Amino acid sequence: PESCIQTPKKVGSPGELEEQVICLEPGASAWKLVHKKIQQLSDSDERDAFMVADLGVLAEQHRLFLKAMPRVAPFFAVKCNNSPSVLKVLSNLGTGFDCASRGELEQILSMGVAPTRIIYANPCKQISHIQYAASHGVQLMTFDSEEELAKVAKFHPTARLVLRLWTQDSKSLFPLSAKFGASLDYCGHLLNTAKDLGVTVVGICFHVGSGCQTPQSFGQAIADARHVFDLGLQIGHPMSLLDIGGGFPGKKNFEPVFEEMAAVINRALDQYFPEGSGVEIIAEPGRFYGAKVCTVALNVIGKKEVVEQGGRRLMYYVNDGIYTSFGLMLREKETRIPHVVKSFSCKPLLYPSTLWGPTCDAFDRLGPTDILLPELHVGDWLIFEDMGAYTHTLSSNFNGFTQPEMTFTTPSELQDLLNPLP
Ligand code: PLP
Repeated sequence: PESCIQTPKKVGSPGELEEQVICLEPGASAWKLVHKKIQQLSDSDERDAFMVADLGVLAEQHRLFLKAMPRVAPFFAVKCNNSPSVLKVLSNLGTGFDCASRGELEQILSMGVAPTRIIYANPCKQISHIQYAASHGVQLMTFDSEEELAKVAKFHPTARLVLRLWTQDSKSLFPLSAKFGASLDYCGHLLNTAKDLGVTVVGICFHVGSGCQTPQSFGQAIADARHVFDLGLQIGHPMSLLDIGGGFPGKKNFEPVFEEMAAVINRALDQYFPEGSGVEIIAEPGRFYGAKVCTVALNVIGKKEVVEQGGRRLMYYVNDGIYTSFGLMLREKETRIPHVVKSFSCKPLLYPSTLWGPTCDAFDRLGPTDILLPELHVGDWLIFEDMGAYTHTLSSNFNGFTQPEMTFTTPSELQDLLNPLP
């Protein structure tokens, strides 16, 4: 048989998602399963968009991460992909977790993950969320303002704080520095204030922006972190943690490649935080782990032809869009070209095409208006790869549409990674 279906595993919080994981026999793959499902759905009128996840990708990305940066412990950014199966596999692989809210803390703690494997990495937190962290033993938390220090001093005085630095991230796909990060010349004041309030700062963190395109941003940020580390030590804080954030590439063929980024990071770490310095180094990768995990298949539900002077332009209406899986597309510079699931007797002509999402909103468009595609018809299928990062976690039910149903697969040799934590 190509695959065997395991008993559904309940891996979320009580009452939450119950995910069915398909265990792939040798020779089977998530990609083949996508095509098989397309075939099955095409025999009916039920042609909903769907997503297939390959949990085996997580083990491979984890191996690559540790190989490229052996000194850095990954804390997966839950905001990137919060599927219980994904989180379960990662926790069994031994990653820590970066949580942004009480909801994410609850999800991770309910899996049995120790609070010491969590960093609450949101510099501006609601008081009740800080109280939740305090009462559940989550100690590591980030901050970048005096007001946050005052809240922590009052509601979580034993927290181990990590000061978030501002970074130059204007070339990243998702810049974050307009919102977060203390400037270098403000850090001394923050560290002194923490000391006065009796709050312990144990380290420095930064984020060079998600989808970072300039590896040197890491080099600069690590040099800055050293400077503030020394300041913290002088003021009397037990500085012992460096958190280099996220920003690592996730998609295939992304420039710069991960290894190039890792080389810049390793060089900077060796220079500013050399081995033996006693500093623990962590990162908060999201898309590096998540992106390649999921593939989305969607169906053409409508079509229009626009005849222009330059020739034909085709518009297709598909059943997944920016409000369900494709919100991230709004920030991407490169056009994602889907695989067209259709056979042609000879090389087909390509037409400038527009892919509209299913809602009544004209903002709901998958990429530019001139993607070159062969002619499609209502009922045809398209496949998008690298759809596991910031896809379903960004989705809404705007216009009554829901996120595509997900099917999870695992290579049979990795199915033990879905077991409950020991
Ligand atoms: N850490 C924090 C604080 C973030 O805000 C993000 C993304 O926005 C991440 C980690 C994950 O970033 P990436 O997916 O680029 O690795």
